[in-house]
Amino acid sequence: MKKILIVGNWKLNGNKKFLINFINNFKKKKKNIYKNCNIVITPPSLYLDAFNYLTLNENINLGAQNVDVNVFGSFTGDLSVKMLKDVGVKYVILGHSERRINYYENNFTVLKKFILLKKYNLIPIICIGENYDEKKKKLTNKICINQIKIIIKKLGIKSLNNTVIAYEPIWAIGTGKSAKPEYVQNVHSKIRSYISKYDKLISKNIIIQYGGSVNEKNAKSFILQHDIDGLLIGNSSLKLNSFIKIIKEVSNLKN
Ligand code: PEP
Repeated sequence: MKKILIVGNWKLNGNKKFLINFINNFKKKKKNIYKNCNIVITPPSLYLDAFNYLTLNENINLGAQNVDVNVFGSFTGDLSVKMLKDVGVKYVILGHSERRINYYENNFTVLKKFILLKKYNLIPIICIGENYDEKKKKLTNKICINQIKIIIKKLGIKSLNNTVIAYEPIWAIGTGKSAKPEYVQNVHSKIRSYISKYDKLISKNIIIQYGGSVNEKNAKSFILQHDIDGLLIGNSSLKLNSFIKIIKEVSNLKN
């Protein structure tokens, strides 16, 4: 059985005190609530090492919000895949819309980073999704498929083994206006059936999670949908109680 994947993306938020409080309080929660979930937190890169150290032996995985396309050398300000691995990172978010918009990352950048993650056995979380205009023009499925097609065409379908797809409609991120669960289900099932044309087993096993203004009130309605295997959570992952409530709400739904 697939575990539900819950990823908390802290983005550019938090400090040392926040990190220590979050982890200490997380450790006090009953462990059995997480048993059907894989939990990942992606703190700002500066805190990855401390996060890893403080959560050793805890039921929580470490993720990074980004990685550079270069592995070493004269690239001031960047962080390599080897460095992420060195400090215990297991998952890396690729192509988040905030990076696509603010740093002009595109599908080709995502492909280059994806290749590196595969080489170093880290799990990519590929973010895909349409903006509001594209939604209105009914381009959602086309946009989403195009964002993963480049990987399948260049590297083959098997490269999607041990990969996560996060469908994040841009208009729903950080806006408080989440997508309707049925709308998300429809997009996820289109993505899954596209993948199944290449490989049925991969399409069945691949985790497709939803992200966009998920909170403790709406989380369950997403996980109840057949093709939604997890959640990528921004704002609500910064409030430990909300984050834990979400995990509790959804953890038994896929049994
Ligand atoms: C995100 O960071 O990818 C995200 C979905 O944020 P939020 O939950 O705040 O919409």
